[in-house]
Amino acid sequence: MDTPAPRSNFIRDIIEDDLREGRHQRIVTRFPPEPNGYLHIGHAKSICLNFGAARDYAGQCNLRFDDTNPEKESDEFEQSIADDVQWLGFSWEERYFHASDYFEQLHDFAVHLIQHGKAYVDSQSAEETRLNRGTLTEAGRASPYRDRSIEENLDLFARMRAGEFADGAHVLRARIDMASPNINLRDPTIYRIRRVAHHRTGASWSIYPMYDYTHCISDALEGITHSLCTLEFEDHRPLYDWVLDQLPVPCHPRQIEFARLELNYTITSKRKLHALVHEGLVSGWDDPRMPTLKGLRRRGYPPAAIREFCERVGLTKKQTTIDMGVLETCVREDLDRNAPRVMAVLDPVKVVIDNYPADLVEQLPAANHPKDPAFGERQIGFSREVYIEREDFMEEPPKGFFRLAPGREVRLRYGYLVTCTHVEKNAAGDVTTIHCQYDPATRGGNAPDNRQVKGTIHWVSAATGISAEVRLYDRLFNIADPGSEDDFRQHLNPDSQRVIPDAKLEASLAEAAPGASVQFERLGYFCADLRDHSAGRAVFNRTVTLRDTWAKAQGKRD
Ligand code: ATP
Ligand code: MG
Repeated sequence: MDTPAPRSNFIRDIIEDDLREGRHQRIVTRFPPEPNGYLHIGHAKSICLNFGAARDYAGQCNLRFDDTNPEKESDEFEQSIADDVQWLGFSWEERYFHASDYFEQLHDFAVHLIQHGKAYVDSQSAEETRLNRGTLTEAGRASPYRDRSIEENLDLFARMRAGEFADGAHVLRARIDMASPNINLRDPTIYRIRRVAHHRTGASWSIYPMYDYTHCISDALEGITHSLCTLEFEDHRPLYDWVLDQLPVPCHPRQIEFARLELNYTITSKRKLHALVHEGLVSGWDDPRMPTLKGLRRRGYPPAAIREFCERVGLTKKQTTIDMGVLETCVREDLDRNAPRVMAVLDPVKVVIDNYPADLVEQLPAANHPKDPAFGERQIGFSREVYIEREDFMEEPPKGFFRLAPGREVRLRYGYLVTCTHVEKNAAGDVTTIHCQYDPATRGGNAPDNRQVKGTIHWVSAATGISAEVRLYDRLFNIADPGSEDDFRQHLNPDSQRVIPDAKLEASLAEAAPGASVQFERLGYFCADLRDHSAGRAVFNRTVTLRDTWAKAQGKRD
């Protein structure tokens, strides 16, 4: 696996300190997704942090599904999450866990709390509970049920479990402090009645534990040393610690918070991503414009580029928004090294080389990666008719335009030098065919007399090339912070997807495997679509454009 060089950050400092001081022999972390949606780029940060720390310090990282909310969770989500973690390049080995694996123990610990006077069954309505919780400036008020006897609490809790009561009739609350300045400590609910089936435990349970109660105990049962979570849990840490302090758990993990990843021009709220999918605003969770890992994968983002990005954005306690350009740069850098080069024409216009034999097809060698000979060469077909990019020809070229124009000689990359003699036009005045003469002495694109030819353009043989659908993707939103708007739907970029039904590609691409990445020379990085590309129908997605400085670099190379 292509492992980014670890950069130091405050969490790595803590871990190194703990190992040095002997507080832990080895570290254990976990990635704890709720299976209620698809993972997005923000989750990648947490995955890389947790699995990355385990990798770098020879520890372990568990995958644990936090599945305590049966109404919203499903096997489909669980499967896709596990698949994404693997795709990102990480392995949980045999440590594939669920909070629901611990339901029995969580229940027994709740009984333990009741027995020690640390939890009680509350029978207030939701509205009463809310009113009695108090505010930031005002203490909460005790529930009239707060001093129920231990026996009564045990009995009611057993009957809650047995399914005797309707949803919402009672809850189990931790008995902490209704006057705490931290509202999370004002007797938080730890169990609620939900008489619904769970995707893993079926109909066995009528009560389900709450997140805050479940998470810390699951961490402790798994021997987690560092429980890394996002900043919004900072105020929950006292509750995390309180629960573990009351119980005979095997260890007391340390919760450490870090800032979530926020990226501009996109959204990373699961709720809003659900809305995009269910309102048909995108084609699905794996729409290549989605910030989901499934979407980025289909777009052609290499997992190593995402890992490098997560490393590069670093880890802090201060919330910031990262520019989408940082992610795109990581993708370009990766693909620049790893994507073979090919030629494709997205806006074709036909060139007829009048002095080239009509029935001849020559195979000419082309480097698969001009910067890396290890990629080898391929043969590309050259014929009398070729396609070039419409914008590579101008009838009346302005100063500084070095590509094809009447009377002008250019290099067809890896092919020959050709000179434009005349053009044909349709009634509307558009150029339909460009006529050229080639110089047979320039095979491969080199003039024997070293005469100056400034322009080099890409092309595809009409005789051997294939047709393809090419999808040009751009950012899904046209404002930097769509998440902050009342309605993010208003800010969808109408040009985020443009479909070219009949682009021309060199023949080698007929065999591209779905998901394979290539650079279309001078145009950008593209990948064969995972869903729709097949041997009989070529479909390519634009992953990312080339860098803006491309034109300059290209000029030098030629
Ligand atoms: P919710 O809890 O609202 O459903 P979530 O995005 O927190 O949404 P989880 O499945 O609970 O979803 O997330 C799994 C892990 O990923 C958690 O530890 C969470 O803190 C972390 N995570 C989620 N979003 C981000 C983000 N944008 N940046 C970094 N970590 C994140
Ligand atoms: Mg969460």
